[in-house]
Amino acid sequence: MQHNIDFLVIGSGIAGLSFALKVARAGRVALVTKKEAMETNTNYAQGGIASVGGQYDSFDLHVQDTLNSGDGLCKKDVVETVIKDAPARIQELVNLGVEFTRSHTNAKALDLVLEGGHCRKRIVHAGDFTGRVIEQALLNAARNNENITFFENHVAIDLITYSTRMKRGIVTAAHNDVCCGAYVLDTNADQVHTFRAKATVLAAGGAGKVYLYTSNPDIATGDGIAMAYRAGALVANLEFVQFHPTCLYSPEAKNFLISEAVRGEGGILVNARGHAFMADYHPQKDLACRDIVARAIDSELKKSGDDSVFLDITHKDPAFIKERFPNIYDRCSTLGIDITKEPIPVVPAAHYMCGGTLVDADGKTDIERLYAIGETACTGLHGANRLASNSLLEAVVYADKSARSAVRDIKKNNAAFCQDLPAWDPVGTTDSDEAIVVSHNWDEIRRLMWNYVGIVRSNKRLLRAKNRIDMIEKEIHQYYWDFNITPDLIELRNIAQVASLIIQSATLRKESRGLHFNLQYPEKDDRRWKKDTILRRPFVG
Ligand SMILES: Cc1cc2nc3c(=O)[nH]c(=O)nc-3n(C[C@H](O)[C@H](O)[C@H](O)COP(=O)(O)OP(=O)(O)OC[C@H]3O[C@@H](n4cnc5c(N)ncnc54)[C@H](O)[C@@H]3O)c2cc1C
Repeated sequence: MQHNIDFLVIGSGIAGLSFALKVARAGRVALVTKKEAMETNTNYAQGGIASVGGQYDSFDLHVQDTLNSGDGLCKKDVVETVIKDAPARIQELVNLGVEFTRSHTNAKALDLVLEGGHCRKRIVHAGDFTGRVIEQALLNAARNNENITFFENHVAIDLITYSTRMKRGIVTAAHNDVCCGAYVLDTNADQVHTFRAKATVLAAGGAGKVYLYTSNPDIATGDGIAMAYRAGALVANLEFVQFHPTCLYSPEAKNFLISEAVRGEGGILVNARGHAFMADYHPQKDLACRDIVARAIDSELKKSGDDSVFLDITHKDPAFIKERFPNIYDRCSTLGIDITKEPIPVVPAAHYMCGGTLVDADGKTDIERLYAIGETACTGLHGANRLASNSLLEAVVYADKSARSAVRDIKKNNAAFCQDLPAWDPVGTTDSDEAIVVSHNWDEIRRLMWNYVGIVRSNKRLLRAKNRIDMIEKEIHQYYWDFNITPDLIELRNIAQVASLIIQSATLRKESRGLHFNLQYPEKDDRRWKKDTILRRPFVG
């Protein structure tokens, strides 16, 4: 089946929904999302959105904090634009019905809190389930918009470009290409549909599932980055994977984050002996940037052999803790941990992809009519390390910019649909009876990325990872050709692709900067490496 629409949006998180709501004024939108629309990274965000609003704060201070965190690789013009745009975007969310927490002293003002790396209280939040509140408000608005059609349980497989000679698994990529839409698997009907669009936006989120331990939900398999790369778009800075220092350590809890805001409110990291170790690593102690805290925990765990360290907030008033962190309090209570009385066991876990599909100031990739926004994109805001609560902000700012640009482009060019799109070629026609191969490869990739391409890297580990991933990719390619396509196979192919790109990027960068730390090159080398790591798929004629 072929759908012809003005705007194809892949992803229903904060980025995709914000974009869809804006372009729906100018045309028909298909919003494709691989599970239920609510199942996004956005939905799990706890802390909030950074936006200057306090009496003693300024745009300049927020810019400076962002640049400090990004360790020399942020694009200053991007940082300034995003930060100055924040109050307007927050107001838009409020207008859409997002109920942010109000100040105790002035009900007209939003409550602002502190997080690691910020020198002022500037995090706008809704309790400690900010993401859920935003996601719900955006979803309600989008579902009530008659120009937006939802396609839930639809997995985008690959982008279609002018130069696509689509045989499953082989997308030939030409430079200066034009995006015409995407092939999408309807997982309920088990059919591949062609979505032909005048503008396509990748808002498919991050890639935490490439790693064994992650704060991300299952949807985060890097599909947007993998599709963009296969289509020939530039991708950048994929070595900069942010590990959140404090994920709950419990065999029963899958992917539960203990927000940065707990340290912002005075939470202290201690090891199993009760020693508050952050003072040994950085003058900012527990409020140092995430990369520093994650490496400190990694080092403590390697030294002691312990399973976890602990985050202690028991010195605060129990009533305050329950009111400020209701979500964390409830979740920990169900696991038998009373956070008002005992420290929380925590470990670092893959959390955020700072790199992604390279875009310009309007969210455009270097493929015409293809945009990338949110965690899938690399705008230049985060540099080598994202500052806490800057990512929801980046998503709404770039959704706004790219929506304006996409509407302008469609009008300017009086854009027509691409003609004669090749139909999906179902090469493999047999159902696989070896699902075990898929799950085995999934597991192997995630483990090797955790062990060899994690918080601390080395040349030997990277080489070992490369050799393994090359072999696994060959196996997946074969499997992809032989059997009917399934959502698991699509995701496996994408995590392998993204893992390989992370390894390539990490191998290229011969220094340590921000989130990338290599034992052989422990110093930063501004003379040779103060630049992005950019990859493009070689042209296949
Ligand atoms: C636990 C947690 C806490 C966080 N806390 C904060 C915070 O406090 N502040 C902050 O700024 N950031 C936070 N972040 C990061 C932030 O939530 C994300 O970066 C942001 O929500 C990403 O939004 P997005 O719209 O780009 O992607 P997502 O919200 O992840 O949405 C991606 C969408 O794409 C869909 N998709 C993916 N692949 C396909 C495909 N092949 N076909 C169809 N659909 C597809 C998914 O199903 C999903 O709908 C947190 C992240 C996590 C995991």
